[in-house]
Amino acid sequence: MKPVGLRIDVDTLKGTQVGVPRLLEILERHGIRATFYFSVGPDNMGRHLWRLIKPRFLLKCLRSNAASLYGLDILLAGTCWPGRLIGKHATDAILAAQKQGHEIGLHAWDHHGWQANTERWSDDKMLEQLKRGYDELSHILGEPVRTSAAPGWRADQRVIDLKEQFNFDYNSDCRGSAPFYPRCSDGHPGSAQLPVSVPTFDEVVGGQCTIEQFNPFICDAIENQPFAIYTIHAEVEGIVMSEQFEQLLEQFKQRQIQPLSLRELLTLTPPSITTSVRRGPLPGREGWVGWQGEQEEHHASY
Ligand SMILES: [Zn+2]
Repeated sequence: MKPVGLRIDVDTLKGTQVGVPRLLEILERHGIRATFYFSVGPDNMGRHLWRLIKPRFLLKCLRSNAASLYGLDILLAGTCWPGRLIGKHATDAILAAQKQGHEIGLHAWDHHGWQANTERWSDDKMLEQLKRGYDELSHILGEPVRTSAAPGWRADQRVIDLKEQFNFDYNSDCRGSAPFYPRCSDGHPGSAQLPVSVPTFDEVVGGQCTIEQFNPFICDAIENQPFAIYTIHAEVEGIVMSEQFEQLLEQFKQRQIQPLSLRELLTLTPPSITTSVRRGPLPGREGWVGWQGEQEEHHASY
């Protein structure tokens, strides 16, 4: 069996209220335990998606049909009114994931704010965002959050350093190819990092493959990685792409690919190296993302 860490990012209120329950049903049918990363503050993701509307993105939208992929309500959230607080309005869905035995981690307080402002925020502002998300999610779960994942893989040296204050068991903040300890500014290794090594749906569909080719494409990508973590989004695979996601799980079974939570994957393959985290481009994504170490930079295409 080939293990793959299955990570589910939840960015919006609709993704939490609609996508998460549907994913829970699907995962339960297949006897799979995964890791959910929740956003718990204001849902301003509509602002994020509109901000990205520039010619290149519009082209991508037309190719991948983003409006029908995300739905108009997600595209509008937080644009004309203050974003609603996800943790307050979708507590039940978060608790249902916990009750079903999935691992729960922190994605963000304000997902859009983090993606748009990682470079602009002061250390204090960034710590405040982490702390608000950490406190809210820990409060909902009734226990301290033990893992986190930076929104949009927007993590650089400063984010790695600031997160050390939270004593997470491990984090999944960047892209890369092997589990590692990130080198902190003071030279010490930080909490383990489990980098994502397989592309997401929106990064490759419409470019490297069609919607119909996506499932076999992802199975190949997982088999080709010595260390595989695959990310899905509650807004995509939990809503419009849920049938295709269930078919992907069938294909996993046929190809002897076993999805696990990231914590289980960490136990199977603990890190043996320490590297830096740096910013770099990722095909199919706007702006930069955090990348594991120097040697991984030319792995930026799949
Ligand atoms: Zn996200």
